[in-house]
Formats: sequence, structure tokens, C-alpha cells
Amino acid sequence: MAEILDGKQTAAEIRAEVARGVAALKRRGAHVRLDVVLVGDDAASATYVRMKQRDSAEVGIESETHRFGADVSREALARLVERLNADDAVSGFFIQLPLPEGLDALPLVSAIDSAKDVDGLSPLSAGRLAVGLPSLLPCTPHGVIQLLKRSRVGMAGREAVVVGRSNLVGKPLAQLLLRENATVTVCHSRTRDLTAATRRAEILVVAAGRRGFIGAEHVREGAVVVDVGIHSKEGGGLTGDVRFEEVEPLASYITPVPGGVGPMTRAMLLHNALEAARATAGG
Ligand code: NAP
Repeated sequence: MAEILDGKQTAAEIRAEVARGVAALKRRGAHVRLDVVLVGDDAASATYVRMKQRDSAEVGIESETHRFGADVSREALARLVERLNADDAVSGFFIQLPLPEGLDALPLVSAIDSAKDVDGLSPLSAGRLAVGLPSLLPCTPHGVIQLLKRSRVGMAGREAVVVGRSNLVGKPLAQLLLRENATVTVCHSRTRDLTAATRRAEILVVAAGRRGFIGAEHVREGAVVVDVGIHSKEGGGLTGDVRFEEVEPLASYITPVPGGVGPMTRAMLLHNALEAARATAGG
């Protein structure tokens, strides 16, 4: 029987810490403001933005959403990014992804001042992470690391295997696991023998974006299993990349979906907004 890595509980602790940090900044006359750029009318994106705004309000972070139709020009968005970079009232901001077809996110994300890059996804933030300089860290990978640390799961010296190499999750997670002194393997769709690789893992993090992809055959006995995947279930609810019922009896620790990595991702965004505001306020 695995111990559950409770992302909901750990995220609540982080939100409480952020709320205390925000209150302390306010006492010094500073404030925290997290702005959002929302383009188009994708229902899922609109829901995520609403959730993030509600999270912000709960911890005392101000927030403004800049909304555009899907036909907005790249130039108009670039001007907004410049304006938000220059606006001292804005501690940090992010562009809700994905952008509608025809709008390339990379040049826009690249233009975000790294001090305000609360998603941690700009190439400069990614580069700073890779060379070990301080930066705002991508929320999902940082959420995974915080969940492991706060659950007292040691990473140093252990075999960690990450399934997935996206810029959003897999790659930065591999960097962060390295920073924690794990021995890291990154798998992807061209990995020749995935099962052999995942069975070596003492810590297995799955971010493949494939429902129920990882089962008992992939997991070494006693492994720590972190499921980043999120998929809607028919008839409602969420499920992950890991077949929980099958893997849980083998694992020492496991994240549920929902209630694992998802709440941690949301909490780390608030953490980053506070970090950005602290840096502006002089620590
Ligand atoms: P993504 O950009 O689609 O990347 C998926 C990665 O998995 C790719 O690197 C891909 O390899 C690899 N992959 C796909 N099929 C594979 C296979 N058969 N064997 C081995 N590797 C395979 O997805 P993402 O943005 O990283 O997100 C991954 C999942 O996490 C999604 O379900 C997403 O919804 C979820 N997610 C959750 C949170 C959260 O807060 N919990 C946050 C972000 C994302 P290639 O590079 O070779 O194509």
C-alpha cells in the first residue's frame, strides 16, 4: 500500500505561506499583482484563468485579466507585453496558453521580463534554470519537487525517470531533479524500451499526456510515482497518465489525480507572484 502524496493538503500549506508573505509585503506598503493575458474564447483556458484569479484573491494577490479576441494581432500582444514589463504596479504576469491557431506563443513569451515571468517558461528563465542561476521556476515541475520535498521523499542519489520532454513539464523537471542531485533519465516517444527505463526508476514522474499509459508492468516495487497527466473522464471527473489502481499496490508513494500535482501547480503560480513582488520590493 502506497502512501498518498497529498497535493491538495501541501498546496493549502503553500497558499497559507504565500498569504502570510503577501500580508507582510502589504505592511511594508508594497503589493502583489498578478496579471493574465487571455486570448480567444477557449472554454478550458477561460476556466483556468478564473481559477487562477480566485486563487489569487484568496491569498490577497491583486489580479487583472487582459482579454483579446482570437483575431488580435501579434503586434498588439507584443505591445501589451512591453507595457506590462514596464508597469511597476504589475509584479508578474503570464500569457494563458495555448494561444489560438496562427499566433506563435514563443516570441511573446520570450519578450516577458524574466523578473516578471511567473510561468517560468521564457527561454531566458529556462536558460537560467539550466545553468543554476536564480529564476522563477515553471509551476508544474516546481510543484512536483515541492510535493516530494515536503513529503520528505529524498531525491539525492536516487534513480529518477521522467516520461515526457516538453518545455512545460519534462525538461524543466529533469533540470530540477538534477539540481536535487537525482540521477535523471528522460524518456520520450522515441525511447526504444520504455518499460526497461521506467522499471529502473526509484522516482518515476509521468508527463506523457496519455490516459492510463503507465501500468504495473512499468513500475519497480517501492517506487515513488508522480502522475502529472490530466484527462477528463467520460461522465465527469479527472484521471491521469498512470493506472492508479494497478500501480498503487506496488509503489511506496503515489500522487492521486485529481488532488496530486494539479493543486501544486496552482499554488506555485501564487508563490512565483510573491517571489516576483519580493524581488521588486527589495527582498
Ligand atoms: P506534451 O507537450 O504533449 O508532451 C508529452 C511528452 O510525452 C512528449 O515529450 C512526448 O514525447 C512524450 N510521450 C508521448 N507519448 C509517449 C510515449 N508513448 N512514450 C514515451 N513518451 C511519450 O504534454 P505536456 O504539456 O508536457 O503535458 C503532459 C501531461 O501533463 C498532459 O496530460 C497535461 O494535461 C498534463 N499537465 C498537467 C499539469 C498539472 O498541473 N497537473 C500541468 C501541465 C500539464 P515526444 O517529445 O517524443 O513527442
